[in-house]
Amino acid sequence: MPILDEILTQKLQILEAKAKKRSIIPSVREDGVFVLRGKNRLVSFSCNDYLGLSFRPEVIEAAVKATQKYGSGAGASRLITGSNPLYEELETLLAKYKKTEAAVVFGSGYLANIGTIPALVGKNDLIIADKFSHACIIDAANISGATLLRFAHNNINHCRMLLEENRKDYQNCLIVTEEVFSMDGDLAPLHELEDLAKENGAWLMTDGAHSILSINNNATVKMGTLSKAFAAYGGYICGSNILIEYLKNSARSLIFSTGLPPAVIAAATAAVRILLDEPEIAGKAMENARMFTTILNLPEAQSQIIPLVLQENDKVISASSILAENGFLVSAIRPPTVPENTARLRFTFSSLHTEKQIEELCNIIKKQGLV
Ligand SMILES: *Cc1c(COP(=O)(O)O)cnc(C)c1O
Repeated sequence: MPILDEILTQKLQILEAKAKKRSIIPSVREDGVFVLRGKNRLVSFSCNDYLGLSFRPEVIEAAVKATQKYGSGAGASRLITGSNPLYEELETLLAKYKKTEAAVVFGSGYLANIGTIPALVGKNDLIIADKFSHACIIDAANISGATLLRFAHNNINHCRMLLEENRKDYQNCLIVTEEVFSMDGDLAPLHELEDLAKENGAWLMTDGAHSILSINNNATVKMGTLSKAFAAYGGYICGSNILIEYLKNSARSLIFSTGLPPAVIAAATAAVRILLDEPEIAGKAMENARMFTTILNLPEAQSQIIPLVLQENDKVISASSILAENGFLVSAIRPPTVPENTARLRFTFSSLHTEKQIEELCNIIKKQGLV
């Protein structure tokens, strides 16, 4: 019998040889933008807590109070006894934020996508997704059993062509895109996609995991996460009352997975409320990203995510470690997270970064000849 550990050792060696092996490093987050690694305190440009809300006193207090009142865990699936009353307020606020009739919260963004897509399309249906769609959208498509076709990134003409050639062969069709692309920071042409969907009798689903500004669109299915700008954990779908009712009855990742801990629901609720009350914090994160692209003469920031593509894996790893030696945490993003030969530094900006931190970061990037 083959010995599992021997086979896995070989596989790990192959990853190592391609500079693709990853490791999980303990990281203590402090004050919203710092990360402690070993003895080093780094300014992080790699967290998705874009609005610094995971350190806001109101958010933390809400989590503590909810734990004291309701205990630490949900105890069951939401369909059994795990649907804490705190969900109601959160879902109402999310529907308001996304301007839809209703919302439903899942255990994570990943679970929202892998539960929702297979609930809506199946064997005789077609999914047309942007080439750069997040891994969980692709996983969801595979689970659904629908035919998956992918259009070149943000290429509306290619999407139209795929629809023209294939739509007629399938019963239902779902077009899926991210609103703000997680590894590129660019924006999807949502209005054009909306029109295409309408013209071709397809439904549009948008993944807004990285959206910090409420992007106006009329997608039929709007997905988002509570794990990034909303400083907690969980995912959600917004849409019509009927869509949400149906998902509660058919999304397997909702039905067969435990509800969120009360602390997480309360923290997310506090965070959504803060963003609705203080939309300017999202503007501040954008301003910081724009300051970075201006100083470095890069194309103007479209979002709070800025990639610097260095292509080769080893080059990006060494750039990341030089930045770390200088006090900045910027993760090296490599395939399969991004396409081959597009390894990159991915900078994420927070509303809490200071001008001084951004200027110092830019100085080092220039000095190292990374731009
Ligand atoms: C992070 C992310 C998800 C998954 O969300 P989690 O809440 O972290 O599971 C889904 N889609 C995109 C585009 C993401 O970046």
